[in-house]
Amino acid sequence: MSNHSNANTSPKSPKSDLIADWEHLFKVFLRPEDNASRVTLVKYMEQILFGLHDFLKKHVGITEAKSLKELSERFTDTVINENPEKKLAEVITCVIDEIAPQAVNVASPYFVGHMTSAIPFFMVHLKTIVSALNQNVVKLETSKVVSIIEKQVIAKIHRMIYENSEAFYRTHVQNTETTLGAFVEGGTSANLTAFWVARNARFAPKEGFEGVESDGMAAAYKAYNVDRAVILVSRLGHYSLRKAAGLLGLGNKSIIPIGTDEKNKLDLNALRQKIHDIENGPEKTCILAIVGIAGATETGTIDPLEEIAEVCAEHNIHFHVDAAWGGPTLFSNSYRHLLKGIKQADSVTIDGHKQFYMPMSCGMIYFKNPVIMDVIAYYANYVNRRGSVDLGIKSLSGSREANSLILDSALKIMGTKGYELLINHGIETAAAFAEEISRRENFQLITAPELNILTYRLCPSELQQKLSFDDAQIRQRVNKQLNSINRDLQRLQRESGWSFVSRTSLKFGQDHSNCIVVLRAVIMNPMTTISILKDILDEQEEIYRNYLAGKF
Ligand SMILES: *Cc1c(COP(=O)(O)O)cnc(C)c1O
Repeated sequence: MSNHSNANTSPKSPKSDLIADWEHLFKVFLRPEDNASRVTLVKYMEQILFGLHDFLKKHVGITEAKSLKELSERFTDTVINENPEKKLAEVITCVIDEIAPQAVNVASPYFVGHMTSAIPFFMVHLKTIVSALNQNVVKLETSKVVSIIEKQVIAKIHRMIYENSEAFYRTHVQNTETTLGAFVEGGTSANLTAFWVARNARFAPKEGFEGVESDGMAAAYKAYNVDRAVILVSRLGHYSLRKAAGLLGLGNKSIIPIGTDEKNKLDLNALRQKIHDIENGPEKTCILAIVGIAGATETGTIDPLEEIAEVCAEHNIHFHVDAAWGGPTLFSNSYRHLLKGIKQADSVTIDGHKQFYMPMSCGMIYFKNPVIMDVIAYYANYVNRRGSVDLGIKSLSGSREANSLILDSALKIMGTKGYELLINHGIETAAAFAEEISRRENFQLITAPELNILTYRLCPSELQQKLSFDDAQIRQRVNKQLNSINRDLQRLQRESGWSFVSRTSLKFGQDHSNCIVVLRAVIMNPMTTISILKDILDEQEEIYRNYLAGKF
């Protein structure tokens, strides 16, 4: 709030010229009514856009110039001031000059470690529009046409996944009785929604039982004469699946991991065997869903969706595809075929804040059957009335922002072709990176990229020889050494602040007992080129030579 001449000094206020009173409060709620205040507001917006733009243009920003300890010591005051501390301009300046440089420059093309990256600049404008309009799509009365646009953009993405007929989409696009999907907070809540729907559909109301949503799990198991319900997914399934099972009362042990083949795809024989074991086991177990992953978080690999769909159809099991990462591959004429079989999915998770390049946070869930979401419908008299377009009826969220406006606008600005270029660039650059890694004698490619994610490790040539020894004990010792080298390497590179790859550990061997530490690269930033990736490898070799080689 602005200066005031009759400053009323509060003992706690650090700045005596700032006060909160009705006069000033009123001003911050009004649109600028005169030219001077309009100019001021535009000036602030410029400061945000270009101040932050400068930060994001800097080489990296993954730096630890200030340690976490140092930072956390600076943020310990827990008292809220009675009077204002700062004016808007000061707040903005502080964020740009002091906060942003200590945040992470995820937009750097040298930041290739996570599923968060640069976003098109127009996304900032679109996000601003969403805030400025402040529509609440929980109900029509607070969003009107924006809810209608949401139904339209959901139908567009549904069509990209399921490719139903024009007539199908004409029937459902604005149908108040049916729902093709929903916007949610992210992949986690999308997966949760998928399981919620699958659970409620499986344990539907029947004679003497009002359904699992009202009567709970114990009653559901009793009514359906089962001991437990499980969900099958490859061992590379995202941890959000376990979270969802916990929340839904299935227990997270009910997420049963299935082995993978040498390409990190769900092993179909192991899946069939597990289903056979469950069906013939001592417990009466209901298989609630089988999940196919389209773009595993750690390896980027895609499960054999078409074959999993067949298994699900055969056993009448809900087929969920977790395409949080890989979904937008459908934009690419060259790589769409990798997701063959996704059309058969009963539900599909897609993240907006990943490969749709939307700002945090946006997820989506889609369903093949336009009425299946009825099993999670909640009505309230003051909102969410029956037969209305109130999007809050079949949704995990209550009030929520109009992310659909951002996605709809982005689709218009980019076209499918724009997204296709981004997807192709990621996949092709990752392939080139894999080749480069294989070419270098001090590196080992661990999981080859199917999409735009790969894992590798630094493996000095002298140790690589020992890995081919017959003696399992020697190999194990070398792997332990390599784990330690790669753990240190990743940390040192991050701390030096030039580039960033992430780190995870993958299990190998017959019984998946060998845990090896790997570096993980996610190539989604269109500015990330093969020459930048070579720089990153050079830096890793240099860090090894200078800091690590002597230690081992
Ligand atoms: C990222 C991801 C999730 C979780 O999504 P959030 O948006 O982080 O909640 C789930 N599954 C897969 C495959 C993912 O890549």
